[in-house]
Amino acid sequence: MKIYNTLTKKKEEFVPIEPGKVRMYVCGPTVYNYIHIGNARPMIVFDTVRRYMEHKGYEVNYVSNFTDVDDKIIKKSVEEGVDASVISERYIAECKKDMEGLNVRPATTHPKATEEIGGMLDMIKTLIEKEHAYTGADGTVYFRTRSFKDYGKLSHKNIDDLRGGNRSLLVSGEDQKEDPLDFVLWKPKKEGEPYWESPWCNGRPGWHIECSVMSKKYLGDEIDIHAGGEDLIFPHHENEIAQSEAANDKVFARYWMHNAFLNIDNKKMSKSAGNFFTVREISEKYDLQVVRFFMLSAHYRSPLNFSAELMAAAKNGYDRIVTSVSNLKYLMDNAASSPRSEEEEALLKEAEKLAVKFDDAMEDDFNTADAISVIFELVKFANQNAVEGKSKSFLQALRDKIIMLSDICGLIVEKKEELLDTEIEQLIEERQAARKNKDFGRADEIRDELFEKGILLEDTREGVKWKRA
Ligand code: AMP
Ligand code: ZN
Repeated sequence: MKIYNTLTKKKEEFVPIEPGKVRMYVCGPTVYNYIHIGNARPMIVFDTVRRYMEHKGYEVNYVSNFTDVDDKIIKKSVEEGVDASVISERYIAECKKDMEGLNVRPATTHPKATEEIGGMLDMIKTLIEKEHAYTGADGTVYFRTRSFKDYGKLSHKNIDDLRGGNRSLLVSGEDQKEDPLDFVLWKPKKEGEPYWESPWCNGRPGWHIECSVMSKKYLGDEIDIHAGGEDLIFPHHENEIAQSEAANDKVFARYWMHNAFLNIDNKKMSKSAGNFFTVREISEKYDLQVVRFFMLSAHYRSPLNFSAELMAAAKNGYDRIVTSVSNLKYLMDNAASSPRSEEEEALLKEAEKLAVKFDDAMEDDFNTADAISVIFELVKFANQNAVEGKSKSFLQALRDKIIMLSDICGLIVEKKEELLDTEIEQLIEERQAARKNKDFGRADEIRDELFEKGILLEDTREGVKWKRA
């Protein structure tokens, strides 16, 4: 399995620290609003990386944080006159709903910055003891960037260039700093802001320290993969490396993966230009499975443009897979349960070759664009070879293969079996009859069966009402 490593600018063979296990950290969103469609890209991409690794038999410990203390969260809490935690908890819950819609699996752990302050204080203390950090007059703690000799190794920036010219590359220019390159680890509270006590001042952490601390706590000092959008390479990930390696004296992460940006109609997403969409808004227009398909139709390191035309093409592509899977189901239900013929066995060997081709694409730095093309080849193969007269077992094997490869991409292509209104009403009548006969076991069974098919029952005075979930 080859991964493009931002650190070395090369595709490298993936070798985990511990055989069979992957320790992976993905920087998560700051929760002050619904997540936008750009935020969805790293979620989908790295969820797919995780799924593929699990398919290959790795046990993946996947950690992704929620940044729940930040200027934007505080601003919104002041506007609404509520506690900052009300804002962050609200948008964490909403983010989880969007993730579910996009079929992004919950991380093994989703730590929150506000619950990890103790670990941050410990790491800052260590950095001060080791003289990698110092305190300014007002109690702000800064990282002494020049004390970390490898600074710039991820973003391939020369520390002297940073100092010499481009001030926009600097983190900020507070005058208490020994050096403009130094960045904040801990800062004093402002009036009305949430704060924590510390040996330096009552205040709150800088942004970068949380990821170093959470990664250490949940994955250990050394991890396999650290990931996020490419805007995080500098300064966020560069600063994470400096903090973690200076504190732990270990190589922080072996592979650094970064997704390219998602643009809208070839323009950078921006609220003021009006080309800004949340996942929630998009979900009113498109099935989120189509959004996931769209995101994976490009390689994660290529910029991706979101437009109505490309979404229409994605819908076509996704529907093609869903239709094939559903046709196979229809054929299967009407096929004979005879053993597979020799011809069928030979055809399945052909299909197996396509599954290998799918893996080859994914092994090449998770080339989901090529992997999806292979799913299309398999769909075409199935459409050509799944005809009447074929055995149930053959049809099922083909169908399972398409579903399995789609599932590695996190694409749900198996339509929920939909019940007709008349079928639902029949079952409800049967349930009523069962209840009358005090056969409550059967009555519950019917309720559960309907529930599984997305039908909710409500017993009212006027009788049983039902609705689709
Ligand atoms: P943020 O909440 O801004 O820290 O972003 C959360 C994650 O989304 C980070 O990994 C960002 O790099 C990523 N991200 C933000 N905007 C975009 C975009 N337009 N395209 C792709 N990734 C993005
Ligand atoms: Zn981070």
